[in-house]
Amino acid sequence: MEYYRSFAAYCKETFGRKLYRAALDAGMTCPNRDGTCGERGCIFCAGGSGDFAVQYNGQRLCEDDLSFNHHKAGNGNYIGYFQAYTNTYAPADKLEHLFEAALSDPLFAGISIATRPDCFSEEIYALLQALKERHPDKFIWIELGLQTIHEKTAAYIRRGYPLSVFEECIRNLHALGIPAIVHVIIGLPEESEEDVVATVRYLSRIGIAGIKLQLLHYLRDTDLGREYMAHPERFHVLTMEEYVHLTALCIGSLAEDIVIHRLTGDGNREELLAPLWSLDKRRVINAIQHELKIRQITQGIFWQDKNNI
Ligand code: SF4
Repeated sequence: MEYYRSFAAYCKETFGRKLYRAALDAGMTCPNRDGTCGERGCIFCAGGSGDFAVQYNGQRLCEDDLSFNHHKAGNGNYIGYFQAYTNTYAPADKLEHLFEAALSDPLFAGISIATRPDCFSEEIYALLQALKERHPDKFIWIELGLQTIHEKTAAYIRRGYPLSVFEECIRNLHALGIPAIVHVIIGLPEESEEDVVATVRYLSRIGIAGIKLQLLHYLRDTDLGREYMAHPERFHVLTMEEYVHLTALCIGSLAEDIVIHRLTGDGNREELLAPLWSLDKRRVINAIQHELKIRQITQGIFWQDKNNI
């Protein structure tokens, strides 16, 4: 039995096959690092998650170019995932060159662009619209690192934009018919069970296409990691049981049509300070599946009255 709408199931029903993400590093930066809205980045950020990404400047790619490619899936079975840093934070002509090249590459079924909601402009929305019209056979997704709806936590993690900016971006993407996939972190300092559930219920109401759930990792060479090493007693690092419980609640509280792209993240083994149990990703996912089964939680089971939140 399927307890939630997984990315694999979504691909099968939508494309009739499995798709694989090919992480791309297009040499972007981030306004939260270059001084525009901050210099030290989000406190948990070790550099924009582009560790395994292929350097990309619009060149034609083949499978052998992809790092950690064990799939041999063939042309048309990859998603060009603009992953590293903020991928709409550049002049529109540069973005057009990169996105146009990836959408024209037979390797990719479509592209997914990881970015921040405060890094859009009329010009960029117009570009997305034009690309969509030029490539009706390909998809364009936008991935937004929201992490939480709670302003107090957002200030602590130095996210650098208020929730209203995210809402405006979602409205604009809705108007263009471009799906948004939203990243949420579970285990943020001072966030209660109710706080986490409130975030996913909000996302169900506002209408997003997909979600990536991610455990808070304490990484070396981040401000969060340094603070944790100096004062571990100030932090409550989630146990696996707590994470499994919270994730199951989130799944139950998500609208049924939202695709769950990820249930936990990959912590870089060398950089991860805590929680170390998260390195065994298979075990975590199995535990979540088990929790859903024994508690008979299916996606949306706690999401009945959309207006009553
Ligand atoms: S917005 Fe993304 S890339 Fe920029 S500092 Fe935060 S997590 Fe890192």
